Amino acid sequence: MIFETLDTYGHEQVVFCHNKDAGLKAIIAIHNTTLGPALGGTRMWPYKSEQEALNDVLRLSRGMTYKNAVAGLDIGGGKAVIIGNPATDKSEALFRAFGQFVESLGGRYITAEDVGATVADMRAIAGRTSYVAGIPKEHGQAGGDPSPMTALGTFVSIKALLGGSVQGRTIAMQGVGAVGFHTCKLLADEGAKLVIADVNKTNLARAETLGAEMAPVDQIHAVKADLFSPCALGAGLNAQTIPELGAPIICGAANNQLATEEDGARLMAQGLTYAPDYVVNAGGIISVSAEYLGEPEEAVDARVRAIAPRLMSVLETAKRENIPPHQAADRIVRERIAAARKG
Ligand code: NAD
Repeated sequence: MIFETLDTYGHEQVVFCHNKDAGLKAIIAIHNTTLGPALGGTRMWPYKSEQEALNDVLRLSRGMTYKNAVAGLDIGGGKAVIIGNPATDKSEALFRAFGQFVESLGGRYITAEDVGATVADMRAIAGRTSYVAGIPKEHGQAGGDPSPMTALGTFVSIKALLGGSVQGRTIAMQGVGAVGFHTCKLLADEGAKLVIADVNKTNLARAETLGAEMAPVDQIHAVKADLFSPCALGAGLNAQTIPELGAPIICGAANNQLATEEDGARLMAQGLTYAPDYVVNAGGIISVSAEYLGEPEEAVDARVRAIAPRLMSVLETAKRENIPPHQAADRIVRERIAAARKG
């Protein structure tokens, strides 16, 4: 049954990690290493079942192969999940035990932060393995919190989609957490009008200081705007929300924005422009991979800014071939991996 699933998704390796003394139950999924070692964060989440954790890590690790490949990185796709509540189940011993499993893979998998994991957790993992990133480095070196770079990639994408300037344009932003807030700041600095929504009052108040207007959480997608930017959770573009969208362009950082494959076609049928999420939000992984390779910050900045022309080229291909943009992006990935296999 598990091998059947691995076959469907195309995974290379799945590792179940167990350490009773440390209370560790984790799964590392290596999806594809054709382009290089598998890189992707560790998510800590109170999954309701082991099956749910397995499904999540398989889906997320495959997503990393796509994101890393389309960003032009010589890096494969992987991800890890730790089953547990990040608010109550963390300990130094847990992350050290996890680090030992990462080490045992000899560099086939490199980890970093994801939902529920922090810089402090990465430091604990680093006590047992060097195959870890997401830890602040010395001045001038790439590294640390990836969200400002994810925001920069989102910002340059939005700007390109709006013809090179955001001055006076209205952006409706769903979710003003780490990435959403940084993106709002960059937009506000260049004269955009912001309408925001968030379920977290503290984050909302912080973004309001940028002069943003607030909208109800269940209405932000329908706000009349030049562009709608989903920067909260996934699956926000679905059969219910798509007919209600108030902007002609959708471009944000949230992972897995399309609830189903059909939603990409649904957006296209409605004449809306959808910027594929994993093309737009690769800034963070570009930063993390540069940190791992010990590269300078400037290299990261240039690579993240290159997301905008890449996105526009994906959209042109989609238009020319009359296919949804996410399919055009998927094809670039498949071609890159197939070419690397042959080479
Ligand atoms: P975050 O947790 O800091 O921010 C998410 C924000 O969304 C929070 O303020 C939260 O309150 C809000 N939110 C949750 N549900 C909402 C709802 N229904 N309506 C409105 N707001 C809601 O996370 P983040 O790091 O900013 O990431 C945002 C998105 O971008 C996620 O989907 C994440 O997977 C994706 N992403 C992040 C990075 C990164 O570098 N952090 C990289 C790639 C992709």
